[in-house]
Amino acid sequence: MKNLICCISIFSILSCNSIGQTKQKTNTQLSTNMSNKIEKSNEEWKKVLSPEQFNILREKGTEMPYSGKYYLHNEKGTYVCAACGNELFKSDTKFNAGCGWPSFSDVIDSSKVVYTQDKTLGMERTEITCAKCGGHLGHVFNDGPIPTGIRYCINSVSIGFKK
Ligand code: FE
Repeated sequence: MKNLICCISIFSILSCNSIGQTKQKTNTQLSTNMSNKIEKSNEEWKKVLSPEQFNILREKGTEMPYSGKYYLHNEKGTYVCAACGNELFKSDTKFNAGCGWPSFSDVIDSSKVVYTQDKTLGMERTEITCAKCGGHLGHVFNDGPIPTGIRYCINSVSIGFKK
């Protein structure tokens, strides 16, 4: 009887330990996933973004066409999210679509952005936002150059540039 109680006790300790390890792994995994995303309140974003950046990135505004500093920008490098630094576009995919906004034929990686159907302003468009911080970048259209046939139409205000 004493041996039986002893065996049950050992089994209980091992089981608890195993559950504890599983729980610990899950928590670690969650914190890693969450650390890839940036979540801030509007008040916090207002402290780190200019009023124009806040309007476009957080309130889905649009800059005036032909006004943005990257519309005719042609240096070699990488375009990043202006709010969080997430690398979005390579300069070799940038082209002049004549539309008044910086245009790209592809993203660095499709996981960098989130595609959402946008039915505002009486149009059916696909909005793209930064996958890391949720900032509004622009819209995607099916009239780009080959080989992708895609045009990522992006606000200059939503992006930064690294040489
Ligand atoms: Fe971002």
